Amino acid sequence: MPNHTNIRFLGAAQNVTGSSYLVEHKDQRVLVDCGLYQERKYRDRNWAPFAVDPGSIDAVLLTHAHLDHCGLLPKLAREGFSGPIYCTPATAAITRIVLLDSARIQEEDAEYKRRRHQREGRTGPHPEEPLYTEEDAERTLPLLRAVGYESPAPITDSISASFFEAGHILGSSMIRLELEGMAVGSGPGNGRPDESRSVVFSGDIGQWDKPIIEDPTVFSDADYLVMESTYGDRTHEDPGEVEDLLAEAVNTTHRAGGNLLIPSFALERTQEVLYHLNRLLQSDRIPHLMVFVDSPMAISVTEVFKDHPELFDEAMQELMEEGHSPFSFSGLKMTRSVDQSKAINHIRGTSIIIAGSGMCTGGRIKHHLVHNIYRKESTILFVGYQAEGTLGRHILGGAKEVRILGQTWRRKANIRRISGFSAHADQFALLRWLGGLKRPPRRLFLTHGEAEAIRVLADKIEQEKGFKPYVPEYGERMAFD
Ligand SMILES: [Zn+2]
Ligand SMILES: [Zn+2]
Repeated sequence: MPNHTNIRFLGAAQNVTGSSYLVEHKDQRVLVDCGLYQERKYRDRNWAPFAVDPGSIDAVLLTHAHLDHCGLLPKLAREGFSGPIYCTPATAAITRIVLLDSARIQEEDAEYKRRRHQREGRTGPHPEEPLYTEEDAERTLPLLRAVGYESPAPITDSISASFFEAGHILGSSMIRLELEGMAVGSGPGNGRPDESRSVVFSGDIGQWDKPIIEDPTVFSDADYLVMESTYGDRTHEDPGEVEDLLAEAVNTTHRAGGNLLIPSFALERTQEVLYHLNRLLQSDRIPHLMVFVDSPMAISVTEVFKDHPELFDEAMQELMEEGHSPFSFSGLKMTRSVDQSKAINHIRGTSIIIAGSGMCTGGRIKHHLVHNIYRKESTILFVGYQAEGTLGRHILGGAKEVRILGQTWRRKANIRRISGFSAHADQFALLRWLGGLKRPPRRLFLTHGEAEAIRVLADKIEQEKGFKPYVPEYGERMAFD
C-alpha cells in the first residue's frame, strides 16, 4: 500500500456504470460503492479481478441501492471481503431486494448461456457460471450497517463518514469522508501531522423538486470532490408537463377502451408514476380506473417507501396526513402472484398496468405486451430511458412488427413517451449543486458520465466557477495533499 493518502478510480471513470472509488489513508482502505458495469462494452470488467485484495478492505460505504453502485458487492464478499458495508437504513432495505434479484438474474443468465453453448457446441469468453449466486448475495446482506443521515460514523481509526440526502432515489446519499492525521508538508517545523481533509462523494445527484423525496444536499466546503456528470451536457424537460402528458395518455386510452401499459423500473420510477396518478385522481383529471402494480420487486420496494415516511418531502408528507397515500388509493392493486398477474388479462374495459422490466427486456410486461400490442385501442407509455438493442427501444422506435416471447406481432397499439421523468440532475442542477461551495476545492474530479458529457460540463465549470476540474482515467490513482 502506498504511504501517501490517495484515491483510485476503479469505475465510472468516463463512463456511467461500475461506480467504485478506493481511498487509502494510513494503512486503511475504504471503498466507496462497488457497482456493476451495465454498459455492454464494459461488462468484461465485472469478471476482472478486483484491483486490491477484497480481504484488505476495511469497510465499504454505499451511496445508494442502484446496481451500478452496489451490484458487485456479492462478488466482493465471495472473494474475501467481510467488513461492514455502511449505508442509510432505506438503502440497506432496498439493497437487499436489489442484490437478491440481481443474483437470481445472474444465475438465470448463466443457465441460459450454458444451454445455448451446449446447443451450438462452443464456449464463450466467460465461464458458464453466474457472476455471483443467491448464496453470495445472502452472504453479503448481514454485512449491511445502517447509518442515519447527518450523523458522523467512525469507519476506521482515522476515517469517519457522514451521509447526506442526495435527492436521487429513496435513501440515496452523498458521503463526506473526514481523513484525520494527514501527514502534510515535511521536515521539522513544516510538517503539520494533525491536519484533516474532507472528501465529498456526490453519489448520483437528484433533481430539485422531484416528487416524494427531499432535495439534494448542497455543501459549502470540501477539500476534494468526486462529482457525477451523467447529464453534464443536457437540460431536462420541464417536469410540470409530466402530469399533463400522463392525464392525456390515460384519458385517450380510456375513451378508446384499451389498456394503458407502463413499462417501469421497480425502484423509484414506479412510485413516481403512482404519485402522479394519485394526484390526477384527486383532482378528477382522470377517471377512477384499476391501477395494477404487476411486479413483485416494485411491490417490495414500495413497501420500503411506506416504511420510511420520514424521508418524504413536505408535499408528500401533506398528502399522507390527508390520507391520500399514492401507495394505497382506491383502485390500486398490487399483484404479487403469477395467478393474480394472469387474471389482469381477463378484465374488460380500461386498466392501467405498471410492470417491469423498464426496457421490456424481461419480466411480466412481456405478457401484457402480448395481450395488448395488436390492439389499436391500447397504449404503451414509456416513462424511462430505453437503451439501444432493447425491446423497449424497438417498440418506441415505431417498429410495425415486434417479436415477443417467440412470436411475431403486428404492432397496432399506440406508442407514447414522457421524458420529463429523471432521477438525475441536469447540467443546470449540477452547476446549482456546485454553487454551494464558498471556495474552490483542492480538486474536483468529474466521474459517472460519458466522455462528451464530462467535457461539456468541465468547460462550463471552468467558465462559470473559474477552476478546472480533473477527469480521471479508469484505474488512475491520485494523491491527496
Ligand atoms: Zn443511481
Ligand atoms: Zn449511478
